[in-house]
Amino acid sequence: MTDTPPPIYLDYAATSPVLPAVLDAMLPYFTEHFGNPGSVHRWGQAADKGLRAARRTLATVLNCQPSEIIFTSGGSESDNLALRGVMFAARAAGKGQHLITTAIEHSAVLTTARQLHEQHGFALTILPVDQYGRVSAGQVAAALRPDTALVSVIWGNNEIGTLNPIAEIAAICRAHGVLFHTDAVQAAAYLPTDVPALGVDLLSIGGHKAYGPKGIGALYARFGVPLTTQITGGSQEEGRRAGTSLVPLAVGLATAFELAQAERAQRTAHVSALRDALIAGVLAALPGQAQLTGHPTDRLPNHASFALQHTDGNDLLMQLDLAGIAASSGSACKTGNPEPSDTLIALGLDPTWTLGSLRLTVGLPTTPAEIERALAVLPGAVARARRA
Ligand SMILES: *Cc1c(COP(=O)(O)O)cnc(C)c1O
Repeated sequence: MTDTPPPIYLDYAATSPVLPAVLDAMLPYFTEHFGNPGSVHRWGQAADKGLRAARRTLATVLNCQPSEIIFTSGGSESDNLALRGVMFAARAAGKGQHLITTAIEHSAVLTTARQLHEQHGFALTILPVDQYGRVSAGQVAAALRPDTALVSVIWGNNEIGTLNPIAEIAAICRAHGVLFHTDAVQAAAYLPTDVPALGVDLLSIGGHKAYGPKGIGALYARFGVPLTTQITGGSQEEGRRAGTSLVPLAVGLATAFELAQAERAQRTAHVSALRDALIAGVLAALPGQAQLTGHPTDRLPNHASFALQHTDGNDLLMQLDLAGIAASSGSACKTGNPEPSDTLIALGLDPTWTLGSLRLTVGLPTTPAEIERALAVLPGAVARARRA
């Protein structure tokens, strides 16, 4: 028998494993402390104690009040609640009906924004981005209207890794009395999420991109931000999100972010060194054939992304999988029918490049040896996926 080397996971921006310490913190809330925190008896009280502690822990990480945190089922629901909640509340109060967002949002924001426009009659501006996938505070300022209710700009882009100048954009919005939301689902895993320092009114996070569990996220909504409840029913989350509280998952989310904050410097140093080796290695191995996408320096520390010319990204992902490398195109890929990446189109790349989006994202378990092996097999996989 020949020794096949173990496969290499380079898709941490798609999802990450739950850390053992996170799992340990969660387990008692599936079993011993299984009560409904809405119940008066001691089972309920034990669960409620865990939920409150999780909310306090997350509030410390975000530097906000516990009551400013709404637990949700994930990043997508947080984005939905921010956009729908603010826009419907603004309309009900006669305080505007215009939404501004960008061309490189995650689909949880962009599809929601388009539906608010097409099916609910809200006005929508989608800002273009520069060659690195960034929007500027000046662009946002120029797009503001008297009826603008909300601006939503992604912090760290999932496909190309670019970071947007969130604090600057937030300051412009606040100066004009317009609410500002950022999708921090990728960024929050590594960057400091001090919401008063950022100046944001709403911020979305999710558990599973940051070594927490799937099925949980949170929306920070600054005290007093009007939100129309999207999941109606019971009075959980102060009436802002109905449904029996997600106690074990909330405990996992809070523990994951507490660890992310405590270990931020070491984690960032670890992943950014591996990311830099990947970027340098890919560009050296595929001269003229691969270009870095997103900003060269102002990017997520674990994120390397490329456009490959004359390459079908889906074929490449399959070739890489056969070679033992788990990678991604950075957005939902449709198997069989290759479609150009909207994000790469938004960057201004020409059609010979936009089918070939490749995202390689490293994580806490990634080793230098894995990067070396991935770089060794990549050129062969690209050659096999390259269109005639
Ligand atoms: C993954 C992701 C989401 C969606 O989060 P889920 O928890 O999977 O619903 C939203 N925004 C960004 C930027 C993401 O990367």
